[in-house]
Amino acid sequence: MILGLTGGIGSGKSTVTRVFQELGATIFDADLIAKSYLESDIIKDEIDRKIEKGLFNRESGELNKKRLKEIVFSNRDMLTILNGIIHPKVVERYRELSVEYLNSDKVIIFDVPLLFETGIDNYCDKIIVVDIERDRQIERIKKRDNINIELIESIINSQMSSEERKKRADIIIDNNGTLEELHQKVESIYREIKKG
Ligand code: ATP
Repeated sequence: MILGLTGGIGSGKSTVTRVFQELGATIFDADLIAKSYLESDIIKDEIDRKIEKGLFNRESGELNKKRLKEIVFSNRDMLTILNGIIHPKVVERYRELSVEYLNSDKVIIFDVPLLFETGIDNYCDKIIVVDIERDRQIERIKKRDNINIELIESIINSQMSSEERKKRADIIIDNNGTLEELHQKVESIYREIKKG
């Protein structure tokens, strides 16, 4: 069973994913997959040409992620360009995985922030949306990332609305409560899925 897991920035996707993993699920994290592509030379060249020169450290080859975030979330055109470079490769990887795990009795999680936007939801048997109220979302991101509120708001505003996401969900995990409550919700979802 392939479960697509999504939600807004800081909604709790990674936290939910960790619990699923502890329970025995296999996770495929879109950020990690995208990151692995960011390390390839062809992609580096494209980013250098299309977004900004010098985003990669010349000696270590390391990406200046903070600067890249600032660029793409303060300029929508740049976000579109970056997505155009990375997304097709990530989508293709998930297509391959969906074939590999077709009819698997394992619980497979596709952890994809842009699950609907990229169409990766089409490769999933069920969709889980992690949902959180906007004020709490801002508060948790601020605490975690130590970035300013304007940047947080522009990231949230650039994403699909919570209402739209929830409409397309099979299961909604409300993450406005405590971590303990979140653990319990994930455990009961996992148990239900395993039961079939
Ligand atoms: P991103 O979209 O940026 O990858 P995410 O959706 O994966 O974020 P997490 O990193 O899991 O979100 O959660 C955001 C922050 O909120 C983290 O610091 C996490 O520890 C914290 N958090 C998550 N759920 C709760 C909760 N129920 N109570 C308190 N803090 C929480």
